[in-house]
Amino acid sequence: MARCPLCGKPLNWAELVGQMLTLKNAEKILTERELFLKTLENFTFKCPHCGEKFYGRYLPREEAEKVFELLNEFKEPIDWEKRKVRLRLNSLLALDTMLEQWDRKVKG
Ligand SMILES: [Zn+2]
Repeated sequence: MARCPLCGKPLNWAELVGQMLTLKNAEKILTERELFLKTLENFTFKCPHCGEKFYGRYLPREEAEKVFELLNEFKEPIDWEKRKVRLRLNSLLALDTMLEQWDRKVKG
């Protein structure tokens, strides 16, 4: 799970991506995988718990990749008027991990 590198508290991916929606080319960023991951790495996020700023490269890369997939799997994941993410990304990531473990169990 993504955590703030400074205070260690869990972070909400929908909130994090929401911070990126302030970028001018946000719409393009969300549809191009490499652009999304690169922008995320260099983006300065602000922790809602401690208020400190940190770079996206301190977030788990694997989760960032899944977040990108989720954003492109669902229809209208973003409320562009409010600049908010509609998806419950953390719940979807948890579900995804659970299914992977289940899959491994069944095949193993
Ligand atoms: Zn923090």
